[in-house]
Amino acid sequence: MESKEIKNLITLMAKIPGLGPRSARRSVLNLIKNPEKLMLPLAKALIQVSENIKLCSICGNIDSDHICGICKDDKRDKKIICVVEDLTDLWALERSNTYKGCYHILGGVLSAIDGINPEDLRIKELINNIKENDVEEVILATSATLAGQTTSFYITDLIKDMNVTVSRLAQGIPIGGELDYLDDGTIGAAIDSRKILNSK
Ligand SMILES: [Zn+2]
Repeated sequence: MESKEIKNLITLMAKIPGLGPRSARRSVLNLIKNPEKLMLPLAKALIQVSENIKLCSICGNIDSDHICGICKDDKRDKKIICVVEDLTDLWALERSNTYKGCYHILGGVLSAIDGINPEDLRIKELINNIKENDVEEVILATSATLAGQTTSFYITDLIKDMNVTVSRLAQGIPIGGELDYLDDGTIGAAIDSRKILNSK
């Protein structure tokens, strides 16, 4: 059997989403086998990140300062705000390297079942940001789930009188996706958000 310390580490690792007990045990074994290259640097990195992370007071991004690198960047368009559910969505959009506006992280989606109401999300902050920065466009990038759509409708309704353009990310066929393999909902969404290439 594992020692008490190792057991504790496995229990903690198993709480990380996507790991689970079996993967946690394997990961811990891997750490133990590589103390210098992996375990100590990881422990150090965990402490460093936990001591230095701060929530951006404007967009809710996580960075080492109270105003994040994106909000500080003069090259980013402050008049366009992309509303996302979580930090991982912001990271995904940043990886695409195409978006040059700013963000607003909601911190989740509305869900009656889970008891998540508008006041549990950073919606008030979004309204303040739109007002204070004379935002011209809000891009809704919540997920295509029922909760994501509900949140998107809620925000659209809330800001409809605010003189701001509201758009949402196109949904549909993934790059490399074959029609025959896609579900009806995806194909329907792709038709609805089709793009005119050459109008007569
Ligand atoms: Zn920010």
